[in-house]
Amino acid sequence: MGIDLGITKFIHDSDGRAFSPLDETVDRERIETRHQSVSRKEHESNNWNKARQRLARAYERLSNKRRAYREALANAYTQRYDAVFLEDLNVGSMMQQNGNSRNIASMSWYETLKTFERFGEKNGCYVVLVPPEGTTKRCVQCGVESKKPLWAREHSCPSCGFETDRDQNAALEVQRLGLLELGVVEDELGLGQELAESTPAETGTSAGSRSSSSRDVIPASTVVDTESPICSRAQSARSHGP
Ligand SMILES: [Zn+2]
Repeated sequence: MGIDLGITKFIHDSDGRAFSPLDETVDRERIETRHQSVSRKEHESNNWNKARQRLARAYERLSNKRRAYREALANAYTQRYDAVFLEDLNVGSMMQQNGNSRNIASMSWYETLKTFERFGEKNGCYVVLVPPEGTTKRCVQCGVESKKPLWAREHSCPSCGFETDRDQNAALEVQRLGLLELGVVEDELGLGQELAESTPAETGTSAGSRSSSSRDVIPASTVVDTESPICSRAQSARSHGP
């Protein structure tokens, strides 16, 4: 299984399955309110200390929720598949070139990679990291690279005409690289073609088939109980399987 990590979709896999990012609105508001509460208290007073502890708990709650989501996804994928492929994202270099929101995303991708590796070992699944360069630009079917601005959600190859969702193409490309890396593929040249044809996503048609871009994105709340401070459902998924 090839997995593309993103911002608008946290995960998009080569079967066309997508998971939304966590909705952190409530947590961010809670943190903001508690920051204000700390700043209103007299410095180093008892109440100030209490407010600071409450603020720390709000941060911890958000961090637990993120961890529970990563672990639930990593556990499900590494239990279900023999091999999972992800891009070997170099957080250091991404942090330097991108804005703040991308920095946060980069850190979360990095932690996600580590979580997949950990659960891969636990569940007996190969977790293979592939070179990230060009996975978005390169057409999985023919290998030709074309420039894509960030807002272009579709992959439409000027060379071979392959059309699909942008993230779908990237996930397939990650899958292709992973299969090559594992050395389990016999026909290296026909692999991209085969993967492109096997993709469940169909775009560019108006004949009523669901396009990959309109395919449902699975909400994070169905993976982890986002209202629970300790995300108990994810915890139980971790110990008993999905
Ligand atoms: Zn192409």
